[in-house]
Amino acid sequence: MSSLHLNAVRQFEQAASLLGLSEADRAILAVPKNEVIVNFPVTMDNGTVEVLTGYRVQHNNSLGPYKGGMRFSPAVDLDEVRALATWMTFKTALVDIPFGGAKGGIAIDPRNYSAGELERIVRRFTFALGSNIGPDHDIPAPDMGTNAQTMVWMMDTYSSMASVADRHTVRRVVTGKTVATGGSRGRDKATGQGVTFVLDAWLNRTGGSIDGKRVAIQGFGNVGEHAARTLVKAGATVVAAADHTGAIYNGNGIDPEQLWQYTSTHHGIKGAPDGEPITDDDLWRVDCDVFVPAALENQLCERRALDLTATVVVEGANGPTTPEAELVLADRGVTVLPDILGNAGGVTVSYFEWVQNRAGDAWTLSDVDARLRRLLRDATDETLAAAKEFDCTLRDAAYVVALRRLTTVMAQRGVFP
Ligand code: GLU
Repeated sequence: MSSLHLNAVRQFEQAASLLGLSEADRAILAVPKNEVIVNFPVTMDNGTVEVLTGYRVQHNNSLGPYKGGMRFSPAVDLDEVRALATWMTFKTALVDIPFGGAKGGIAIDPRNYSAGELERIVRRFTFALGSNIGPDHDIPAPDMGTNAQTMVWMMDTYSSMASVADRHTVRRVVTGKTVATGGSRGRDKATGQGVTFVLDAWLNRTGGSIDGKRVAIQGFGNVGEHAARTLVKAGATVVAAADHTGAIYNGNGIDPEQLWQYTSTHHGIKGAPDGEPITDDDLWRVDCDVFVPAALENQLCERRALDLTATVVVEGANGPTTPEAELVLADRGVTVLPDILGNAGGVTVSYFEWVQNRAGDAWTLSDVDARLRRLLRDATDETLAAAKEFDCTLRDAAYVVALRRLTTVMAQRGVFP
C-alpha cells in the first residue's frame, strides 16, 4: 500500500543523502514527535450523537512551536496527517520562520454538516485537544475544508478554557482568524499570493516574467482562487481551471473574479459560462506555460506528467506530484517549484499574524505583502543556490536548505539527557 508519509520521508531522505546526514538525524526526522488522537461526541441537529475522531500530529519543534493547519476532509487519516505534518517542518525551516511542523484534522466532509453542527464539532474538538495546542506550543491554522470562521471558533473555545486574565493573550493559539478577531491582513490570499511570488522570483532569476504566461490551475479553493487572482494581476492569463465538480478551458482567459462569483453560488466550476467544459484529464493536456496543482495529493501522476505541456509546475497543494511523475518531469526538463516553497506563503503570513498578536499590532496589507515577497524570494534564491551546489532538482535543493537549518539547531541542542 502506498503511504503518503513514506513519500514525505523519501523526499527528505534524498536530500539527507546529498548532505551526508547522520543516521540519528534521519531517524529523528522520519517519525513525528507526538501523535494525538481524540474521540469526542457531538450532538447533531436532529438530536442524535455522533462520535468523531480528530488528529493532531506534531512532527518537530526544534526551530519553534509546532505549526500547521487543520484539515476537514473524508481522506484524513493518520498517514495523511503524518505526511502533512512532516512537510510543515521542512516548509517552516525553508522559509526561515521560528516554527516547527504539525498538522491535524477530522475525517469528515464539512459540506454534510450545518453551520451549527460544524461549530459544535470545532469547539468540542478544541476542547478535546486541550493543552495539546497552545499559543507557544502548537498553533493550528486553516487548511482544506476549514476557514477563518473555524479558527475563530477554535480561538474562542481555547480562550474560554484559559485563565480569566489570559483570555486575550492566548488568541495567537490559532492563525488564519478573521481580521476583525485578530487575523492578519493578507492571510486569506497568502497561499495563492505565495504561488505567484515564488513563480515571479524563479522567473526573475531565470530571465523570464509572469507577464503573458498561460496558466492552468487544478483546484479553485482558497489556494487556487487566490493563485488565479494574483497571477492575473501580475499579467498572466488563466486558460484553464478545474475543481472536484468540473473543468473549463478558455484560450482568451478566465476572469478569476467572475469564476469565483459563479463557484460561490453554484458550489463548483461545473456549468460555469466562463469557458468550454473539458474533462479532468484534458486539463493536464491544455496548452500552457505554467501548471498550478492546488487541490489534493497525488494528482500529478506519471500519465499526466507525460501529457503536460507546461515547462514549470508550481505546487500550490501539498504533495500533488507522485514520485513516479517526479522522475518523468525531471526527465522531460519540466521545472517543479516544490510544495514546501510553492505553498509556503500561507504559513509565512500565519507567522506574521502570530507576531502581530504578540505585539498587539496590525500591519497594513502592503507591509504584509512586501515582507512575504522578501521571505519567499530569499527562500527561492537559497533553493536555486543549493540546486547549483548539488546539481539536483529544486525539490531536493529545498530540502537541503531546510535540513541544514534543522540539523544545525538539532546538533547544538543535542539529544536529552
Ligand atoms: N495549511 C497551510 C499549509 O499547509 C497553512 C499552515 C499554517 O498557516 O500554519 O501550509
